[in-house]
Amino acid sequence: MTALPDPNQNLQTLSIHSGRQVDPATGSVATPLYTSTTFERDPDGEFSRHFFYSRIDNPNRKSLEQCLADLEGGVEAVAFSTGMAASLAVFQALAPGDHVVLHRDLYFGVRELITGLFSRWGLEHSFVDMRNIEEVRQACRPQTRLLWLETPTNPLVEVVEIRPVAELARSLQIPLACENTFATPVLQRPLELGADLVVHALTKYLSGHSDALGGAVIFGRKSDLTDRIKVFQRVGGAVLSPFDCWIILRGLETLVPRVRLHCENARQVAEFLSTHPAVAVVHYPGLTNDPGHAIATRQMRDFGGMLSFEVRGGREEAFAMTSRLKLIVRATSLGGTHSLIEHRASIEGVFSRSPESLLRLSVGLEGAEDLIADLDQALRG
Ligand SMILES: *Cc1c(COP(=O)(O)O)cnc(C)c1O
Repeated sequence: MTALPDPNQNLQTLSIHSGRQVDPATGSVATPLYTSTTFERDPDGEFSRHFFYSRIDNPNRKSLEQCLADLEGGVEAVAFSTGMAASLAVFQALAPGDHVVLHRDLYFGVRELITGLFSRWGLEHSFVDMRNIEEVRQACRPQTRLLWLETPTNPLVEVVEIRPVAELARSLQIPLACENTFATPVLQRPLELGADLVVHALTKYLSGHSDALGGAVIFGRKSDLTDRIKVFQRVGGAVLSPFDCWIILRGLETLVPRVRLHCENARQVAEFLSTHPAVAVVHYPGLTNDPGHAIATRQMRDFGGMLSFEVRGGREEAFAMTSRLKLIVRATSLGGTHSLIEHRASIEGVFSRSPESLLRLSVGLEGAEDLIADLDQALRG
């Protein structure tokens, strides 16, 4: 039997080389940072070197977008100032009166956008359980212009099978957007599974060091949606700064080994928590008894670095436990080198679906044994 080629071999190469080259002017191996807002015209008024004003395009942004498109197997990527600005651009590309169907568990900021800002703007929506394809079919109307899902989800770590939703979307000629922030292209490539666009909060794993905000939309093929979304970047001005593009690209160079280690650490932490008497339930698709395990095994190359768990004793014990942690930091966000823990219900507010006993843990790159020892002493009280 011959081993299947490991697609991540190719991703490792792309994450280092795609969109970049040794600088022809100086021989610099590391990509220079181009802070100039404006670029020289040719004597005849043309721009043969492509760039003319940094809102429209910038060399660092062009490198990042090329690299992201290649990592996701897309034809084009558009980078934004944050993950939310990327989502905003996708919904703003629709029109008042249009309808969107979304998986019911998703990043709370997107829920806030849809139920708050965009309902005032006349965009209609339905939340359904996309793990049940009949629910998706029944929610679609003649005005439905977009399906939106995130998998694994934030914060309940639910796993949605992308392929059947993509097949339904294709049969109804409705584009499917898939948020790939938790999985990253190392673990799952939604465009290959039939999604039309991929949305990322680059702030998380792709950047990887909790020191840059960014977002991106990546397209499987060009359509009028591509052009409408690009307008919000180039004309609307929701651009990522050259420095943020540069630092995110630097983070991307180690994406594959980082994600592998996040997965390995999360697996050990999840196994430890799942046998701990102070823990009622662990949500992690790598555990064989997790409801998402079978789909994740088919769909993902590993199970990711994100998990959530419910402590016995509700909200009070959840707070007490985190107050005793010494290594794991109590902070929002995810996907960086530092392990971060957060009580989601208290920050998600009225839009929350998180139980009061739930803590979300972004398992970082510290030694797994140190993380487990810290959790153990905090759970013992
Ligand atoms: C963090 C996050 C976002 C928002 O990204 P920002 O850069 O904070 O705007 C969107 N979706 C998911 C799944 C996230 O984790």
